[in-house]
Amino acid sequence: SIPLSFFAGIGGAGKAGILIKGSNYLEALADTGTVVFDKTGTLTMGVFDVVDIHHSELDRETMLEYAALAESASSHPIAVSIRKAWGKPIDLSRVGKVEEIGGNGVIVEIDGKQVAAGNSRLMNRLGIIPIECHSAGTIVHMAIGHEYAGHIVISDVIKPDAAEAIAALKAAGVRSTVMLTGDGPSAAAQVAEALGIDRVHSELLPADKVEKVEELLSQKKPKETLAFVGDGINDAPVLSRADLGIAMGAMGSDAAIEAADVVLMDDDPLKVSKAIRIARKCMGIVR
Ligand code: ADP
Ligand code: MG
Repeated sequence: SIPLSFFAGIGGAGKAGILIKGSNYLEALADTGTVVFDKTGTLTMGVFDVVDIHHSELDRETMLEYAALAESASSHPIAVSIRKAWGKPIDLSRVGKVEEIGGNGVIVEIDGKQVAAGNSRLMNRLGIIPIECHSAGTIVHMAIGHEYAGHIVISDVIKPDAAEAIAALKAAGVRSTVMLTGDGPSAAAQVAEALGIDRVHSELLPADKVEKVEELLSQKKPKETLAFVGDGINDAPVLSRADLGIAMGAMGSDAAIEAADVVLMDDDPLKVSKAIRIARKCMGIVR
């Protein structure tokens, strides 16, 4: 039979906005030794402000319009920011075939021309050489036809509780914190440093994130839990692969919520340490 204190633990967590999908996850939570975080949407708001537009021949307005048209079908936080920065209605009759490549960007037919918006990996795929850019934010390169058109620099915003969330995990005795991201190395390092995260791996494709988690699983102590915290559609495979999958529930994707064992209803990363504390208290009574 299930000890009564499990119900108390799950109920108490629920009141704190932490949905635990089964009593076995309380035990796993209590033994957390490593917490691996996704960056965009998990530790950062995933809402960007466009800070800078560099272009070669197009004017700023046209460049942003092409970007908004290219991102018209995407639900990625980058796409949402670009459409917000454009701020005007989008003429969808100009948009033809749309291809979104996870961890890369979008290739879209606009006015019969191929327009690409994404990272340098996307440009390389198309045989286009992007002009190097060393801005601190996330860089979205643009190509129109086979010509490089310039780039948009957007800054991701760190969630207000993120630094405290990492500090609280360390205070709770979690041995290692890791961040995995598809974003570039400079944007990744900036966030990891600001938050005091132990290890960071950048420029990862969704499949690379699964591979990294498998590597970390093979390195950890057998009795310790490796938890992964994520929000996106791309995160569903990693959430399933980790010992414990924790998803952001409010803005997170349905796929992530479904694949997770624990859901944080208000997307607050500080709730990870809170969940561990509740689980330990409960297991202390059971064990
Ligand atoms: P994270 O791992 O930080 O959550 P993603 O895996 O979702 O990030 O995306 C990784 C990178 O892929 C982004 O930083 C961006 O360079 C590129 N990218 C993904 N989707 C888009 C898009 N719709 N438009 C432009 N770039 C994109
Ligand atoms: Mg994400």
